Amino acid sequence: MAAITRPNNILFLYEEDSYSSAIQYAADVLLGGFTDSPTIRPYLNEEINSENYGGIIFYGASDIQTSAPVIQIVPDSRLFGPLYGTEASLPVEPLPQENDLPVLYGTTDVLRSENRIRCYCDFISATYFMVTRYEEMVRHTVRDEHGRFPGRDSLPGRAGFIDTPIVDEYAKLISIWFRNLGVDVKPPERKFSLTLTHDVDTIHYFEQWNSPLTEMLRFFYGTKSFKHFMRAFGYLIGIAKDPHDNFDTLLKLDLATNQKIIYFFISRAHGQFGSDYDIRSSSVRKLISKIAQRGGTIGLHASYEAGEDVDLIIEEKKILESVIGGSIKDLRYHFLRWNKVEDGMSLSKIGIENDYSMGYPDLCGFRLGVSRPILLFDPMNLCLMGMTEHPLIVMDVSLLRPNYMNLNKSEALSYCEALFRKTKEHQGEFVILWHNNSFYQNSIYSELYTELLDMFSSEA
Ligand SMILES: [Zn+2]
Repeated sequence: MAAITRPNNILFLYEEDSYSSAIQYAADVLLGGFTDSPTIRPYLNEEINSENYGGIIFYGASDIQTSAPVIQIVPDSRLFGPLYGTEASLPVEPLPQENDLPVLYGTTDVLRSENRIRCYCDFISATYFMVTRYEEMVRHTVRDEHGRFPGRDSLPGRAGFIDTPIVDEYAKLISIWFRNLGVDVKPPERKFSLTLTHDVDTIHYFEQWNSPLTEMLRFFYGTKSFKHFMRAFGYLIGIAKDPHDNFDTLLKLDLATNQKIIYFFISRAHGQFGSDYDIRSSSVRKLISKIAQRGGTIGLHASYEAGEDVDLIIEEKKILESVIGGSIKDLRYHFLRWNKVEDGMSLSKIGIENDYSMGYPDLCGFRLGVSRPILLFDPMNLCLMGMTEHPLIVMDVSLLRPNYMNLNKSEALSYCEALFRKTKEHQGEFVILWHNNSFYQNSIYSELYTELLDMFSSEA
């Protein structure tokens, strides 16, 4: 290995292209995986002074004039070219592998000389494909019964790499290559963090006055446990709260971690998949102010219908803002139903700064191939959306539901542990979603949540 003596700033150059904004964006996300503030600009056929930069990434097919260490990524013209937006621009399976990583575009050829690495694995196209939901845009007829793009039909789901933040792994590989070329890349300053989120879909388990009695009868018919019987009895005689009103327990667990906490509330219930509470009622107002006073953030849980009609979010946001007396910046779609990729532009225009919806309902893991927050880009209009995506890595129901991952408790825990370790390795943000109603539905959910928080505390 060459001695490490060079400066550590990175210059990314690309050959001018009609997809320049897309290439710049993908480079920014990819390089953000291993360094802060790289310089990204077109290559103007000029001689690059090797004293000014530690290392250069050149995204182009021609030769570049410099004596600085260069990693050249040779573009695969399938994505950024005339095929853009068509099925013919999608990766071809089975995918080849480079250093145990799937190669979505290009080949596994890597040529090494003294201060250059020329690779034919197109990390830029692959990054763009993953982080812009490009496949969902192209395969727009592939949707589940709720209009969502199913994880199992996605490339990471089909090819089996949903549990790997491949963009972060590409970034790591490039930083290793730079070190091999003698460039001491300065790592990014971000730190690993945990974000605990809860979607408040329901706060009433007993919906009617006779619901507890029905629950107790179910015990005698053998369809409910003794625990359920006792809880219903306790509620009936006024010594126990409704089982879905478990926010004191949740808050206590969350606050002990000292990490970011967000509770997403539905502000207007439309139709069949609405909430079971009125956001303006005094009990919900009290709950919201309790969460806020204890340091939790209140976010908007966009209604089921908003997944098809983004304009509904304007009114939903206004209602929630009138309740909290402040502005709402954080969003998650009910059912994770951000169905139309391009809706991000409308969201940022009304002041949404952060979204937390990007996990597949049926598969936990790294939907966008990253374990860290990134800016979002619109693959239709080829511009930034103006908002940040925080990767939703684990959702409670995805793990256990028979029609989703169908894991048992120990499988679920070890799967989450693997995702946790990868996120920590890349100093990512481990966003988890636990529904308050899951806690009562199945005791495995409450046990798993506690064990996940314990894992974080023991590793923090
Ligand atoms: Zn929901």
